[in-house]
Amino acid sequence: MKKVLTIGEILVEIVATTRGNGFLEAQPLVGPFPSGAPAIFVDQLGKLGTPCAIVSRVGEDDFAHVNLDRLRADGVDISGIEVAAGENTGSAFVRYREDGSRAFVFNIRHSAFGKLRPTTASEALIDSCDHLHVMGTALSAEGLGAMVMEAARRIKARGGTISFDPNLRPEILGAPGLRAALEDVLSMTDLFLPSGEELFLFTAGFDEAEAIAALQARGIRSIVVKRGADGASLFERGLREDVAALSVEEVDPTGAGDCFGGAFLSFWLAGAAPAEALRYANAAGARAVTRLGPMEGTSTRAELDALLAQQRG
Ligand code: ATP
Ligand code: MG
Repeated sequence: MKKVLTIGEILVEIVATTRGNGFLEAQPLVGPFPSGAPAIFVDQLGKLGTPCAIVSRVGEDDFAHVNLDRLRADGVDISGIEVAAGENTGSAFVRYREDGSRAFVFNIRHSAFGKLRPTTASEALIDSCDHLHVMGTALSAEGLGAMVMEAARRIKARGGTISFDPNLRPEILGAPGLRAALEDVLSMTDLFLPSGEELFLFTAGFDEAEAIAALQARGIRSIVVKRGADGASLFERGLREDVAALSVEEVDPTGAGDCFGGAFLSFWLAGAAPAEALRYANAAGARAVTRLGPMEGTSTRAELDALLAQQRG
């Protein structure tokens, strides 16, 4: 079986239990929950039994254990996670506003993760994995971006494949060098997983069909557009599959895109039919929004089958 690598942040998330505007007064909180978009993505792969690993950096504290214990239990190879003595693991406080938007207090750049660098263990993973999943956000940090690009080139040169979730909004594309780095990754991408307007990051001025055609002309084999509560669509040469979102109660949408992407990649790498990969990814995204806490909604195959059966019944 092919093994998937991702590189990126691991953190804990602490969530306000009431809605409102940020953290200006004392209030009830719940957590710490394991989190970080790449960590959620890889946890979803692990739960589906796809061999996978993450390169990251945490401190020597309880927040590290919350993540390491979960990832290990769910089948993720954690050998590439450096545990830095005397440092602290990243964190994010999040509170939903009445309108569903979110206020964050982040401590990531100044956490142990901010000093991520290649190690013997991370080099060994880059040399042994068959697929790299790139999170666009990783490219906005200089050292990290270079490490991800280097890993992508090496894995691709060995005949491996690349998936890419931009996970950014057009407003932050102004970061120096980011646009060029995104173009570089896109030129190596086999599976592209944009959400909403991210489809137009590289194809401004086109409508959706034109944007898809332009991306396919660049050699991208599979494009999956995530549409939140409107479901998702898969495009491959000469093929289009659409899926409506499953009807679930949305408790916490954070992490839905990562669960969707991890599940899709698991089926895609295993050579599943496109419609089947899309159906399971759609179920993984739907199940993710029903759980409080970003990584709490990752799913096993049995959990996805149960949700799909319940929705049919
Ligand atoms: P993220 O905020 O994690 O970056 P994203 O924008 O990458 O999210 P979304 O489009 O929000 O991804 O969600 C991914 C998928 O999860 C959707 O395409 C859909 O299949 C499923 N999904 C998301 N929200 C809902 C919902 N409210 N009900 C049912 N399914 C949902
Ligand atoms: Mg996303």
